[in-house]
Amino acid sequence: MKTFYKFPSLCLCLGLSLLISCNIKESKIITVTGEIPASSMGKTLHHEHLLVDFIGADSTGYHRWNKAEVVEKALPYLLEIKKLGYKTLVECTPAYLGRDPELLKILAEKSGIQIITNTGYYSAVGGKYIPEHGFTETSEQLAERWIAETKNGIEGTGIHPGFIKISVERNPLEEINRKVVEAACITHKATGLVIMSHTGLAVPAFQQLGILKKYGVDPSAFIWTHAHNEQDFAKHTEAAKMGAWIAFDNFTPTQLGRYVEFALLMKKEGLLNKVLFSHDAGWYDPGKPEGGKFRGFTEIEELLIPALKKGGLEQKDINQLFIINPATAFQVQIRLSES
Ligand SMILES: [Zn+2]
Repeated sequence: MKTFYKFPSLCLCLGLSLLISCNIKESKIITVTGEIPASSMGKTLHHEHLLVDFIGADSTGYHRWNKAEVVEKALPYLLEIKKLGYKTLVECTPAYLGRDPELLKILAEKSGIQIITNTGYYSAVGGKYIPEHGFTETSEQLAERWIAETKNGIEGTGIHPGFIKISVERNPLEEINRKVVEAACITHKATGLVIMSHTGLAVPAFQQLGILKKYGVDPSAFIWTHAHNEQDFAKHTEAAKMGAWIAFDNFTPTQLGRYVEFALLMKKEGLLNKVLFSHDAGWYDPGKPEGGKFRGFTEIEELLIPALKKGGLEQKDINQLFIINPATAFQVQIRLSES
């Protein structure tokens, strides 16, 4: 990375962890209520949802839900994590799947939780969530739209995205998948927003890292989302050693053993600084009566963190996973590869 550290000479003499915090101190995070220093991000759940609408790009829209009703349903879950010390929730619902920046702003203001929204398109599920222009435009044209959202705000709301959310099918990457990854690379180079890609298995993960390389984007700008679906830990360590973020982001009680095993392995390999955990939980679903069943965001605090400590992780490791790593990943920073 060429542009990662702003004050290397000062930081280098103070050790790696301080070096990271120096870096965070100088960087910013974009939330739905405005920019904050990355050092204020605090304890973070980096992949959750407050609203998801599965009806498809051709039918979704703000007419599908009543904001007040969603607020009433979702707010208690945000207040619950606030009590547990969480400061930030990254809301990963992309455009055409129920992204509603104004709703998120209301929830952020009412709860006091910092919320981050995104730009980008979700190309998995056969393109069901891609708007018509997504099939006809080039990666440059799509990037132009996403860069404009980042610079000018989303749909005149004055609310800016804080990361790029895309998704791809399982291997092999089809044309539309390649196109959104390329558009994400172009957008990253113009905005410094991190790329979060719904991916799952290793094959499409490494294909995407290949596309990043072609565009000169460092792997540290890439979050391998749903990496827990890949069974081979060797693939996770390989991608982490390249610099990518490895997200085990669908924590449920039945997955406890595997998440702990993964964390201990990453610690042993010296790669805990590339790991992100979350629930991928929530959400209000406009397709269901009264928004359906909402899955809360507390199981990591209640089950995973105690189990990680029991397994040998120290408080500084927990801070690494839930404070330093999210702030480092989501800080606005153009990350270019060396070659
Ligand atoms: Zn998700």
